[in-house]
Amino acid sequence: MKPRNRESSGLQALLSERTIIIALLALLAFFWSVELVDTIAALLIFLTIAGLLVRLEFKRHRTALRTRIAETRKLEFNKRGGIKSVRANTLNAVPLPILIIGEDHRISFANHAALDLLGSDIVGNDVYIYLRQSKIVNAIEKIFDDGKKHAGVVRYTNKQKRSFDVTISRVSGTGGDDVPTQAMAFFYEITSMLQTEQMRVDFVANASHELRTPLSSLIGFIETLQGPAKDDLPAHDRFLGIMQSEAERMVRLIDDLLSLSKIEMSRHEAPDTEVNVEAMINSVVLTAAAAGKERGVDFKIDVDASASRVIADPDQLMQVLLNLAVNAAKYADRDSTVHVSAKVAKDKKYISLAIRDEGPGISKEHLARLTERFYRVDDARSRKMGGTGLGLAIVKHILIRHGSVLDVKSVVGEGSTFSFKLHRA
Ligand code: ADP
Repeated sequence: MKPRNRESSGLQALLSERTIIIALLALLAFFWSVELVDTIAALLIFLTIAGLLVRLEFKRHRTALRTRIAETRKLEFNKRGGIKSVRANTLNAVPLPILIIGEDHRISFANHAALDLLGSDIVGNDVYIYLRQSKIVNAIEKIFDDGKKHAGVVRYTNKQKRSFDVTISRVSGTGGDDVPTQAMAFFYEITSMLQTEQMRVDFVANASHELRTPLSSLIGFIETLQGPAKDDLPAHDRFLGIMQSEAERMVRLIDDLLSLSKIEMSRHEAPDTEVNVEAMINSVVLTAAAAGKERGVDFKIDVDASASRVIADPDQLMQVLLNLAVNAAKYADRDSTVHVSAKVAKDKKYISLAIRDEGPGISKEHLARLTERFYRVDDARSRKMGGTGLGLAIVKHILIRHGSVLDVKSVVGEGSTFSFKLHRA
């Protein structure tokens, strides 16, 4: 639209100038016809007016050309600006931190994730203020000093103990001065991967240690029976008893380890069986009560009539209830009562299951770590009672598979309540 307007206004200007010139020429012809000017003078005046017209035309064309060039440049600039902003938006949409670094080591661009990680005011500042590790400094220098395309992957860990694999590569310029070569740092977070790796290493070390203890004890007794106590028949009986309980501890440990790995294998399959939780609680309490009978621990069941059916994996739910009820029987005070309940939750979609004991309770600093593998509050007591230290870890993983979490509330000296919710059938 705009160029057409400009053309029409130019045309109008030209017409009006022509009109003036035609009027001037007509006037000149009139003066010449009445012999007010002679032929030579008329010719001179005509040439002057024509020259003026040519100059005007030339000036107008030059101005139009300049305007057109400026507009084309502006259009190109806008276009480039548009592409730039699309690039920035694309990088901002990447959920991993990305930095673009200039040859002067200043950060020329940081996407949203990088601003979140390193600070909102980092652009324009020296990158080494934020990434001081010498390996990163070397890698960035490799890009600019050695002209390398990729300077490799460097491990970066910040103060908050988040770890990243940072890939440093060259972003080539366009060849012109306006877009010079820069370095790109791409951060790939590996914190949870490292944690999992560490957990596996710890787990293998812990499991080996847990198995090694009863095994060493078994080997010790075998050597004693073969050597010094060879002919001591009363000692044989005692030693064999201990050896049996150590072997049983190993079996329990291996059973729990196998349970854990089975639960992990099924963790992505959501349970879909309708389970009669009331019948299950009755059966679990029978077993747990037997474990607590010797210490006078009594069990009380309280199941709402409408809270008897849940969606769960029956074997796994049985294991959860058994682990929690047997723990309650083991740790509850002598001659106390354990309460097992199933109630419809407020939103009516879930059933809340709870096992409450009147035991020693668990202090706050232990609560967060209670479901870690092999974590024990009182190591000696747990071992004496034949605990593997895996019961609550098994409970936690089964509940994760059921989309639930184990909630532990405890008051030292009063007791503990272990509870969780399951979908109502
Ligand atoms: P363990 O085989 O040692 O019982 P668990 O994983 O079942 O292992 O429990 C971890 C630790 O939590 C136990 O060693 C014990 O110290 C503590 N614990 C579990 N249940 C209770 C409870 N009801 N009362 C007090 N402490 C408990």
